[in-house]
Order: sequence, then structure tokens, then C-alpha cells
Amino acid sequence: MQKRPRPYFLLLIAALLCGCAVLPLESSKVPHFSSRMPAAVAHGYREAIGVIHAHSTASDGQLPPDAIARIADRQGLDFLILTDHNTLNPKAEGKEGRYGRTLMLAGDEISTAHGHYLALRLREEVKSREASQWTADQVASQGGLGFIPHPFWKRKPWSNPALKGFTGIEIYNAAEDARNKNPAMLGAATLLEGSDLSVGHWVARLDQPLALWDRLLSGGRQVVGIGGADAHGLVRFGLRLAPYSTIFKLVRNHLLIMGEVTEASVYEALEKGHLFVAHDVIADASGFLFAAVGPDGAVRGIMGDRVKREPGLKLYAHLPSPGETRFLKDAKRWPGWPGRRAGWQWMGLACTGWKLPARPSPGSTAIRST
Ligand SMILES: [Zn+2]
Ligand SMILES: [Zn+2]
Repeated sequence: MQKRPRPYFLLLIAALLCGCAVLPLESSKVPHFSSRMPAAVAHGYREAIGVIHAHSTASDGQLPPDAIARIADRQGLDFLILTDHNTLNPKAEGKEGRYGRTLMLAGDEISTAHGHYLALRLREEVKSREASQWTADQVASQGGLGFIPHPFWKRKPWSNPALKGFTGIEIYNAAEDARNKNPAMLGAATLLEGSDLSVGHWVARLDQPLALWDRLLSGGRQVVGIGGADAHGLVRFGLRLAPYSTIFKLVRNHLLIMGEVTEASVYEALEKGHLFVAHDVIADASGFLFAAVGPDGAVRGIMGDRVKREPGLKLYAHLPSPGETRFLKDAKRWPGWPGRRAGWQWMGLACTGWKLPARPSPGSTAIRST
């Protein structure tokens, strides 16, 4: 990642939506939770940071795929996944591939009778726009991944709660945040185009998708939470309201992968939920990790993994800078603090980055709960 200028002098609040670990712990013997991360935990994984969910001129976006990829490259992103509406043309036309540092891949945001469905790792286009279960089955039969984007989008919220066979949901959608929840901030950001300061102020916490994710996880389903940019390069009245460069800063997915950044490693991490979602414009979240470690020091699982209960199992949350965390479970926010013991199933977590009004020196950033 390129070093980005950090906003400072003003108090900035934003959500750092973190990955999820599904831990079916059934006994009252509780794991130990610590902020200290053994070196072994990080061993073997590297972060691939990128943007998911962007629209090009293949559907209703403003720029062609290669121009969007170059924006991602200029921001130092490792990957970008285009998802044009009801077409896989960027893939069919050979637009996938490397653009400098950035690996661009192409999926399809399919319109179904019950809402949009984000289909990744497709081999071929799903032509018909049928009921959502039919679409999800078609995607799965290709070995594809399916995500429900913006499940609470005002214009067409997701309306099939019984859907089976999907991979996950968007727990944050930047377009929904900007256009539905924060139109005033959208205007301000337009006037201050490209300013990290304005973008940081833009971010709001959308509770509904997090609550849905929590409910799904609590019901025993393994559901991957991702952050969607939903970037279109929106232009209204001649004004560039939400340029790709701004939206790409608003929400990024940090995948934990083994080896190089390839199509296979990116999609594998998304399938397994080996990721966390962050608003890096507030503070660089690189280095965050949530992991379960056995008594022998070996890693039993990271975000997204299902881990068996065993004596001596410890849960570690490693934050990129000192801070506080809170954990979501069964629609409650449980207090949490590194070093404390906890007696519930740790299923999802979210924490909020709160940048202190401090000089931009190392260690000036704190992570605080909401
Ligand atoms: Zn959509
Ligand atoms: Zn979209």
C-alpha cells in the first residue's frame, strides 16, 4: 500500500467493520481473549487490499474498465472486482488482468425478482433474471460466489430471507451510505473532491446490515461479510458527485491470503471469509487480525473459520494500534477489552476507529468502541 496522508487536527469517527470468526463454543469454559498476538498467528498470511463492487461503462458506470483499474492502481490497491449490472462483458472481452499493481477481476451484479445479487468467480454469464433462488443456484452450480449487496437499499431492499446457497452479504455499502444516509456529506465531499478529510467525515455507521449479519451468524450459518464500494463515478448536473477515486477510499476489503495475489487466492479468501472490512481513510487498518490459537500455540482459525472447542483455546484480536474493541452477538454489544475474559460465543465483531486530535505521529491513533 502507498503511504497516504493522514487526516488530523479534527476528531474523526468512523466504523472499522471487522471480520467474523464463527466459534461454536458450547461450554461455560470460556476462551481467553488477549491483545497480545503470538508471532505464529501472522505466519503464512499476507494482506491483499482491494475494492469490491464497481460499475463501468459496461453497465451504468462513467468510466471504462481499464480507466477504473488505473485509478485502483494509483491508490496502490492489490485487487479490484468490477460488478456491472447483468453482464459479464468485461470478463468476456478480456479486460481482467493486471494493471500495474492491481489485479482486476470481473463479476456480475444480477437483478433478480428479490433484489440485486452480486455474483463473483463466474465462468459464464447468468442470462435470465429469475427468482433469486434460481439465480443463486445457477451461480453456485458454476462454482461461483454469491453476495447480497446493500440488503437494505431503499429503492429495492432484499426480499427473500429464505435464500439458500449464498456466500455472504455486504455489511457496508459505500453508495448506500453516501447517497441514502449522508447526502449532505456527499455534497461536501464533492466540493472538497478527493480530500481524505472530507471522505473521512462521510462515513456513517449503518446498523441494519450489521444486525442482519449478526442474526444470520447467530442462526448457525457461515455468512461472509464484505464491504461494497458500489462505485459508479456518479455525475449529476455536470458535477462529479462520487468519483471512483473517492469511493475507493471509503471502504476496502483486507483479504488474508497465502502466496501471491491471484484470481484463485482472492476468491478463495472471499469464499472462506478470511478478511476484514475497513475504512482506511480514517486510519490504516492493515495488520488487524482475529484468530483462535490452541494451547500448543498453533493457529486453529482466523476470521471466517469455524473452530472446534478445546481446552486452552485462546482468542486473539490484534489491532493495528492500541485501542478498545466491542463484540456483537445476538443483537447485543458486549463490552470487550484486550485481556478480559469473555463468556459467550464470539461470532461477529465490530469496532470503531476514533482518531484522536493529535499530531500525526506513530501511535497517535486509538481504536475505540461505539
Ligand atoms: Zn445494486
Ligand atoms: Zn452496484
